Amino acid sequence: MGQVDQLRSGAADNRVANVFARQIGGEVETFWQVGRHVLARMHGKIEIAGRKLLLELFREKSFAADLGQGTVGDAVALGRQNDDFEHFLRKIVGCHQPISGFVRLCERQRAATRADTERFCLHPLCSVVTGVLVNRFNPYRNQRTDFMAPFLRILGIETSCDETAAAVVERDAEGRSNVLSDVVLSQLDEHSAYGGVVPEIAARAHVEALDDLIDEALKRANVSLSDVDAIAATSGPGLIGGLLVGLMTGKAIAKAAGKPLYAVNHLEGHALTARLTDGLSFPYLMLLVSGGHTQLILVRGIGEYERWGTTIDDALGEAFDKTAKLLGLPYPGGPAVERMAQCGNADRFNFPRPLVGEARLDFSFSGLKTAVRQAATEIAPLTDQDVADICASFQKAISRTMKDRIGRGLQRFKAEFPDLPEKPALVVAGGVAANQEIRSTLQALCDKNGFRFIAPPLHLCTDNAVMIAWAGLERMAKGVVPDDLDVQPRSRWPLDSKAGTVLGSGKRGAKA
Ligand code: ADP
Ligand code: MG
Repeated sequence: MGQVDQLRSGAADNRVANVFARQIGGEVETFWQVGRHVLARMHGKIEIAGRKLLLELFREKSFAADLGQGTVGDAVALGRQNDDFEHFLRKIVGCHQPISGFVRLCERQRAATRADTERFCLHPLCSVVTGVLVNRFNPYRNQRTDFMAPFLRILGIETSCDETAAAVVERDAEGRSNVLSDVVLSQLDEHSAYGGVVPEIAARAHVEALDDLIDEALKRANVSLSDVDAIAATSGPGLIGGLLVGLMTGKAIAKAAGKPLYAVNHLEGHALTARLTDGLSFPYLMLLVSGGHTQLILVRGIGEYERWGTTIDDALGEAFDKTAKLLGLPYPGGPAVERMAQCGNADRFNFPRPLVGEARLDFSFSGLKTAVRQAATEIAPLTDQDVADICASFQKAISRTMKDRIGRGLQRFKAEFPDLPEKPALVVAGGVAANQEIRSTLQALCDKNGFRFIAPPLHLCTDNAVMIAWAGLERMAKGVVPDDLDVQPRSRWPLDSKAGTVLGSGKRGAKA
């Protein structure tokens, strides 16, 4: 059987992979290196011969499937930059519609992709190549793990927003955790000049950092890839460019190391963290308040989530960030607003407390932001004391709102689970959980209602790869089937698939 036939039939082995790797780059020896090589070449170009070879090898079906995984440099830009190749590609794919028709990205994502490609001259095919490679040789396709391993160790990867992170975490048969390494690189410096997360810059920064971060995580954990049982990578929700970078890398590693892949919902990572830190039993309530999410979630079990409340407009962290920007405070806005609020008069402005008193458990913060703008405009130019007073009043309005919303949530929980063997628990996660006033409001609320208030350490409340590895571990330990390497990143991926769309929710913010 020739090489091409072997590859087509899926009868690939290391020997074939090596040959193929040499054909593509001439400098790499193993498949893992091919994956790295392809990612590393996002700055440059892949030889046209290599691309043609890929198309010849994999033909239309798998190629078209993998176009759906186009990354920051996806095939959308191809038509603009390389007409000849698009023509060739259309012929191969056997269709006359533009390549963009194959890429299942919404227009906004495509625009971000185009901008990124134009700005940085990323090569459009790089991720497609990785996707094709790893899909073809995945030994875990459609395979079920029925084992209940007594001891598991997972490498986690997180790239959904503005933190690049990798971690190695273990879990024993009793569910006890051991974090072997936890490496996070924040992109704060890259985004601060813009007053918010810029998707193209974020994706770009993930590409540059991720390989080294994974190496570092393995090194700190004192393990190699052969010592881990699986790879867990965030595959949504989040910014599509970053998700693609992390998921593609996870796939490449899973393939190269011969390990199963778990494509993890970022929100599930947040939801299960308290089991890692506090050994919490199901069910419990989780409040996620970050730059991209404001959700009250009932965590019934692994993979069993009910969204009780969500924001109908801005996320809470987003409201802090926008208010800070409006007042001329630095990004990220949350810590800046909290600092200023410490020396302000919280009673000077009577800002609205959206949805307070309503039975539904949703949130709304855009009206509050508008009220802040109006107040600031009326008294402009603002003195430092004005800014401090606005921040303090803004924070007070938020605390009162949270008190009402979450208080109702606790009541509902008690009504639904009146006979729990343990004291019920409210878990908080997300960057806004750092806010002392909001924390003490929630703590007091829990004390009053007989709940435990669980706030994992801040570095595990914000974006990190420990929670992704842990979510993968929990699923693996439960015997959940690993994901196929065809798995797609999802910019929107509600934890509770049955929860309907709330008007406006999730359409704004860094993770929209
Ligand atoms: P994301 O997942 O959206 O990146 P993170 O969990 O990383 O969110 O948290 C970042 C968000 O948390 C930002 O919106 C930031 O303003 C907010 N934040 C951080 N610290 C505070 C604070 N002390 N008070 C209020 N908000 C904060
Ligand atoms: Mg973040």
